[in-house]
Amino acid sequence: MSRTVIIIGGNAAGLSAASQVKRLQPEWEVIVYEKGSYVSYAACGMPYFIEGIVNKFTDLFELSPDTLINERKIDLRLHHEVLAVNPERKELLVKTPVKEETASFDLLLIATGAQPVVEGIRLNPAGAGRIFTLKNMEDMQELSAFLHEKKPHRCAVIGGGYIAVEMLEAFLARGLETHLVHRRDQLANTFEPEISKLILEKMRQSGIVLDLNRAAQELTEEGEKVIVRTADGELVFDFVLVATGVRPQTDFLEGSGITLGLKGAVAVNKRLQTNYPFIFAAGDCAQTTSVITGQPAYVPLAPKANKEGYIAGINIAGGQEEFPGICETAITKFADLGIARAGLTAEGAQKSGLKAIKYTFSSRSKARYYPGGNENIFSAIVIDKGNGRFLGAQLAGPTDSVKRIDLYATLIQKGITLEEAFRLDLAYAPPFAPVYDPVILAARLGRKEMEA
Ligand SMILES: Cc1cc2nc3c(=O)[nH]c(=O)nc-3n(C[C@H](O)[C@H](O)[C@H](O)COP(=O)(O)OP(=O)(O)OC[C@H]3O[C@@H](n4cnc5c(N)ncnc54)[C@H](O)[C@@H]3O)c2cc1C
Repeated sequence: MSRTVIIIGGNAAGLSAASQVKRLQPEWEVIVYEKGSYVSYAACGMPYFIEGIVNKFTDLFELSPDTLINERKIDLRLHHEVLAVNPERKELLVKTPVKEETASFDLLLIATGAQPVVEGIRLNPAGAGRIFTLKNMEDMQELSAFLHEKKPHRCAVIGGGYIAVEMLEAFLARGLETHLVHRRDQLANTFEPEISKLILEKMRQSGIVLDLNRAAQELTEEGEKVIVRTADGELVFDFVLVATGVRPQTDFLEGSGITLGLKGAVAVNKRLQTNYPFIFAAGDCAQTTSVITGQPAYVPLAPKANKEGYIAGINIAGGQEEFPGICETAITKFADLGIARAGLTAEGAQKSGLKAIKYTFSSRSKARYYPGGNENIFSAIVIDKGNGRFLGAQLAGPTDSVKRIDLYATLIQKGITLEEAFRLDLAYAPPFAPVYDPVILAARLGRKEMEA
């Protein structure tokens, strides 16, 4: 029996799902509503376009609307915003470019992503021309056009997370006097304090002006300037990028009866079904589970969005796949400093009631005598004092060294102990690692910590 599948949101999660449904059920009708002008693009590449490393914004696109419509046979409708969902009637209210209409579905996927939050900062006026956020292609084009047309000199990034770190690099590389305005003396608490200190030091050495412990209260555009008001006085910039985090884009679901969880993310089971089994959710709008604690988690990152979209699509088409949850694995860089994390921070482990020990060490990431052998990688490791398992790891070091975080993610997700990790047979050659790889060293040092 043919079915009508509606997908709300046309990016990583939504289009991964649409492609799977069409692959498995080619006769089913698959409609994708996307409120914006663009679909299927790499939001993660946007900071590098602003930096100038990616030359054309079109390089960020994966699949064109033409490919989606004509080759994948997906009924893609741009500039269509879903305003409300009625699960009982299996209907949506949709705002098209010309009117509002209802649409019926048999199966629905909510893949509406996240939106920036600007908490505790008054914007004056709201949405002014020199105050930016960066969430989607439209935001990126606006910022890029501003940089080209107005040729500003002095800017600030407000925030302390990954996007703030990447945008500070981008503006600095463009030759701007770049300030980090942040409410604490450390970056976001997703970073261990020792890692945060290394990143801030790298920023300072590279020329970023650090305005720390300065909580922005109000941003006011006056003429060609933006005044940032803080408790300790005013700072003046040519423009400001606010990167203080995101929250799920789920306001339109209020009152629908669909259960929302952490931060308003859609609550789903492992098959990615909501409390209505014919409605699924995936990506940045959906809550997930920590594979370490089993607790609900909200982690808006691309691998989760793509994988959840893929799995939701298979399940919508009648399959039985499960998404296991996340380990909070993430990676970025500032200049030539790679930064990565997996699992829990020491603080997060303690909050979850785990008896955690944290230890840190600095070690070589290549053989001593090989070029680059004197560039150390710094590791902050969190282990479970009770059973000797890895709970968390954070790395800061040469960019080609920190992708070994994936090995930590594996150890953590699979519950591998320090003893088992020490016995792993890992690859060695001078250009890639010292004889004792930092991961093996972490296991060796961890055994001592367990004995202490
Ligand atoms: C600057 C930046 C850098 C990033 N870098 C990384 C990185 O390096 N690594 C990483 O893992 N992640 C990164 N991310 C996060 C990653 O981009 C997201 O996790 C991913 O895009 C989420 O995909 P999604 O499909 O869930 O949501 P989105 O990509 O946000 O797509 C949701 C779509 O739904 C549409 N929509 C929303 N509401 C409606 C509605 N009511 N009706 C119709 N359409 C609607 C939106 O317009 C949007 O196109 C970055 C994000 C940004 C902004």
